[in-house]
Amino acid sequence: MPASYDLIVIGGGLVGGAIAWGAAAQGASVALLDEGDVAFRAARGNFGLVWVQSKGAGMPPYAHWTRRSAELWPVLGNRLANATGVDVALEQPGGFAFCLSDQEFEDRASIVQRMHNESGDIGTRMLGRAEVRAMVSGLGDEVVGASFCPIDGHASPLYLLRALHAGLAALHADYLPGRRVDAIDAAPSNFTVRCGLERFTSGKVVIAAGLGSRDLAPMVGLNMPVSPLQGQVVVTERLRPFLHYATHCLRQTAEGTVMLGDSQEDVGFDITTRVAVLQRIAARNARIFPALKEASIIRMWAALRVMSPDGFPIYEQSERFPGAFAATCHSGVTLAGAHALDLAPAILAGTLPDRLDAFTSRRFPAPPPA
Ligand SMILES: Cc1cc2nc3c(=O)[nH]c(=O)nc-3n(C[C@H](O)[C@H](O)[C@H](O)COP(=O)(O)OP(=O)(O)OC[C@H]3O[C@@H](n4cnc5c(N)ncnc54)[C@H](O)[C@@H]3O)c2cc1C
Repeated sequence: MPASYDLIVIGGGLVGGAIAWGAAAQGASVALLDEGDVAFRAARGNFGLVWVQSKGAGMPPYAHWTRRSAELWPVLGNRLANATGVDVALEQPGGFAFCLSDQEFEDRASIVQRMHNESGDIGTRMLGRAEVRAMVSGLGDEVVGASFCPIDGHASPLYLLRALHAGLAALHADYLPGRRVDAIDAAPSNFTVRCGLERFTSGKVVIAAGLGSRDLAPMVGLNMPVSPLQGQVVVTERLRPFLHYATHCLRQTAEGTVMLGDSQEDVGFDITTRVAVLQRIAARNARIFPALKEASIIRMWAALRVMSPDGFPIYEQSERFPGAFAATCHSGVTLAGAHALDLAPAILAGTLPDRLDAFTSRRFPAPPPA
């Protein structure tokens, strides 16, 4: 007999993990099926920002959803810590996007103004040279200013993933790694998910398999046209605490290491690092904080973002097979609060809220018939 659940979530990264934990916390019986270490996993390669200030230019519902998630994050962090003992190192002291030329400053100011006009004021301000230096020490002479948003923050993405998985265990949900879903037999509110010879059944299923979602979605009448966008990250040795704030390209972790980014390369399913990209990342960050030139680099990696064609999330319930849901985004750390505490209860209730209407895949061309 196949194991039966209230909800099956496919994909054990940050998106699937947050939704599965949120549903289990509501008392549902949940299975989280995950392909495992062989899969491409953005959740294990990311930067850890809980970033709000520039999210949603041109799409106010995304800006509002992101802000909502940042508000919910402390609740999520505390609940996970209480249930699992894992501190996800959430800090929300505000975040800077530094500008290294007058042109960058003007461009940034116009994004901030646009966000303000479209989606309301969250306190993001452009700060000149002197104002930024009054808040952050050690800045290089080339920093002409920055945008600063008081609700930006950061967390440890690896501890978050660990806490979500530990939280599921504490709630007696089944986190099942090493299960690559290869087929789903779908009928409205009745799904049999197949992993090799194993079968799992449920009235509700969520496709949250990152880059694997593109192939799984059509099995339940959904369209998730996601593709990879590579990002590379450089990590320094542990340094004395010098930066409490989040920034768009650099953050000091709770352990003292400094993570440097941020690259965006369209290279398909390729996770090799390239020296030219790493040099660019290191050089720009050293212009911002010249003391970094003396720091040893201890790690670097490339990972693949999960991108929809317009970069915004996809949330949708299948019209053909009600009970099947799509969930994907490129900011799974930032949106973890909303995924766990807003989206998961809505999925369990069987209806997505109106404020998620803007995120259906109907904004993209329909896929060719199978
Ligand atoms: C370099 C980089 C920096 C980033 N920085 C940030 C940041 O600062 N802040 C932020 O909010 N976000 C950031 N992100 C994005 C964030 O990491 C992702 O949004 C998030 O990890 C996506 O989670 P996911 O669960 O959708 O996908 P993934 O983490 O990729 O997980 C997908 C999971 O699905 C599983 N899977 C795939 N196919 C199948 C199948 N057929 N059956 C079963 N399981 C399957 C895989 O095993 C995998 O575990 C960054 C990403 C990158 C690459």
